[in-house]
Amino acid sequence: MSDTIIVWFRRDLRLDDNPALEAALRSGARILPVYIHAPDEEAPWAPGAASRWWLHHSLEALDAALRARGARLWIGQGESLALLRRLAETSGARAIHWNRLYDPATRARDTEIKQRLRAAGLDCASHNGALLFEPWEAATGSGGPYRVFSAFWRHCAPRLAEHPGPIAAPARIPGVELDGGGTVADLGLLPRIRWDQGLAEAWTPGEHGARTTAERFLAGHLVGYGELRDHPDRPATSCLSPHLHFGEIGPRRLLALTRAALPAALPLGEHAFVRELGWREFAYHLLYHFPQTPEHPLDARFADYPWREPSDTELLERWQQGRTGIPLVDAGMRELWHTGWMHNRVRMVAASLLTKNLRLPWQLGARWFWDTLVDADLASNTLGWQWTAGCGADAAPYFRVFNPVRQGERFDPNGDYVRRWCPELARLPDKVLQQPWTATSTTLARAGVGLGVNYPAPIVDLAQSRREALAGWERIKSIS
Ligand code: FAD
Repeated sequence: MSDTIIVWFRRDLRLDDNPALEAALRSGARILPVYIHAPDEEAPWAPGAASRWWLHHSLEALDAALRARGARLWIGQGESLALLRRLAETSGARAIHWNRLYDPATRARDTEIKQRLRAAGLDCASHNGALLFEPWEAATGSGGPYRVFSAFWRHCAPRLAEHPGPIAAPARIPGVELDGGGTVADLGLLPRIRWDQGLAEAWTPGEHGARTTAERFLAGHLVGYGELRDHPDRPATSCLSPHLHFGEIGPRRLLALTRAALPAALPLGEHAFVRELGWREFAYHLLYHFPQTPEHPLDARFADYPWREPSDTELLERWQQGRTGIPLVDAGMRELWHTGWMHNRVRMVAASLLTKNLRLPWQLGARWFWDTLVDADLASNTLGWQWTAGCGADAAPYFRVFNPVRQGERFDPNGDYVRRWCPELARLPDKVLQQPWTATSTTLARAGVGLGVNYPAPIVDLAQSRREALAGWERIKSIS
């Protein structure tokens, strides 16, 4: 009987360009693909409700893809180290391969697992399946981490040209079957009260869905992406974020597909879409070097910012439910609730309203996004929230407070986005759609809008609350 190697799948739920799988196959061994559900080990950032929904479907897709090639996914739940040990014993495996994860709790766990398994005589190898650049590869002139994206990307972008290409998916996987595994359904990832219909309508989790989404985007939207990517009223962005988060498509494959779709003369790193992939790399760079940032501001002065008392739950709840009375924000929060995703421009505007106009701590918003986003990703979510709150890695000053009315007029000029998600406002004229509180009572009545009746009056005075946010900044800015 030939050797057995365990391939431990985590957030690399694909067969294409999977370095752990490829290394195991290269050795000629038979493969035992394993998934272990261990949410306690990922605490306090175990997957939220929308992520669990995605994970369920993604695991089913992975198992089906493995079966079609001669293997099957062994699924278990419990302590990862104990299960891996037991599996190695019962299967006679001599080695375990996996692709690296970078969030602090998982890194600590994986380091310990590697040490303990090695001490038990097993050959362990981890690989990079998630990033174009390892977080420790980029360093400033003085050897430290980058804190500003433009400098980070100036370092990384020229290196894209020599980046190794992706590895093709194996045609066959000589699998090992082992008793004792469960099914994806046993993991109980789907919600008990089935609120997930909107997610199912919007997404196709799994490697096939990821590849189809990437190809459709590259063929139809890559040209023009730079101009249109800020428009929530257009289907102009890739919607690949959950697929990337769960590793259903790897960044190397995506880069190769993008390179093939672009004119050869254009330096790859300068294209707006590749730059966005760069932001994802930057997020991981920051999380790796500043592991405290999911909970604590990168800019330590913000520990003393005069946030509003978080016990004021009514404001938070209105924001969460898309009832702020600010149409662009409400549209975004409802899109999030319904589809598990929100357009990037609207994420910034909604986060700015929460942290600046409402002065609620950014961590509250980050938690809500964590539970409701299908692409909830500790690195990108932390970066997005800290960037918008003004306490993170940002070259721009704190005093940029997004004006949701101007943002709506600029990026949703015909109001298609707001009308889609706030149908009660649909009959308002464009001129007042983004600020219904400025409409005359006749205009409101004609459009069937009753402020405080079927659509809320604004939660806050935008100009006054902006001044208060800036006054809070004045109080902390000279803290050294
Ligand atoms: P595209 O425009 O098609 O971009 C392609 C890919 O680049 C994305 O899929 C994503 O992987 C990456 N990317 C794009 N913009 C960013 C960015 N600003 N930061 C990091 N990566 C980026 N993204 C997440 O993946 N998970 C999160 O939990 C998350 N939380 C966010 C919270 C806030 C408050 C903000 C302002 C942004 C957050 N983002 C997050 C970043 C961004 O909004 C999403 O990545 C993007 O909207 C996903 O849509 P897309 O795939 O169509 O993006």
